[in-house]
Amino acid sequence: MYKFRINFKEGIEENYRLIAIDYWKIEESRFVHTIVEIAQKYGVSHMALTGIVQRNATCSKFVGVCSICQEEIWQTASNRTSFNSLKKKSQCEECRELERQKWLDQVEARNRGLRQRETKQQLQQKGLNQIPPSTTLKFSLARNTNKTKPKQPEYSGTFVLKQDVVIKAGVKYLYGGWELTDGSINLQFKPVEEIFPTQQRDIREEPGFIGRQVEQLYNDLMTINEERDKNDEPPF
Ligand SMILES: [Zn+2]
Repeated sequence: MYKFRINFKEGIEENYRLIAIDYWKIEESRFVHTIVEIAQKYGVSHMALTGIVQRNATCSKFVGVCSICQEEIWQTASNRTSFNSLKKKSQCEECRELERQKWLDQVEARNRGLRQRETKQQLQQKGLNQIPPSTTLKFSLARNTNKTKPKQPEYSGTFVLKQDVVIKAGVKYLYGGWELTDGSINLQFKPVEEIFPTQQRDIREEPGFIGRQVEQLYNDLMTINEERDKNDEPPF
């Protein structure tokens, strides 16, 4: 059984109002009068009748109750064909649009989250790549406190470099090792070229001179290292 209502155009002519009432008269889900009957009754053509009704009145059909807002859902048609094709609905247009928007927002939020994670990773990778390689290699040798057999190493562990380190063949390196309070050793390898200015090249080839220089250098570094050692940080 259809629940319906006719919507008349404001200021509709009485004759057209009667035509529309006949056109939209529904009983037991069926149109009471055929188009031919109505056209004959009012002395108009089939085409003219359809035009008169479409311009002057529409019919709204009850198609369900919205499961979200509980409002009745009505849909409107301007002719019998579209009236018959109106389907039952479980959500009103407004609620459906809100649900759709909510869903789109969730998708957007999820995508934004993914993009942010990607960007963060990209930045981190970029940041690592942007650090120029170092010429100095430094890491710590942790004392092996669980040593039970003579063949086990005195020092063992792992280390991860924060940036690439370039060690080249043919370059003279100065190395130093610092024993820390827990028995571990901090090691550093640095090109001699970087420690002594180029103009001193001739002088530092002298073993005696370089020996004194290195002693002084490592005494200075040792002081820095002791400071860092308090914070469990690698040297320098
Ligand atoms: Zn609703």
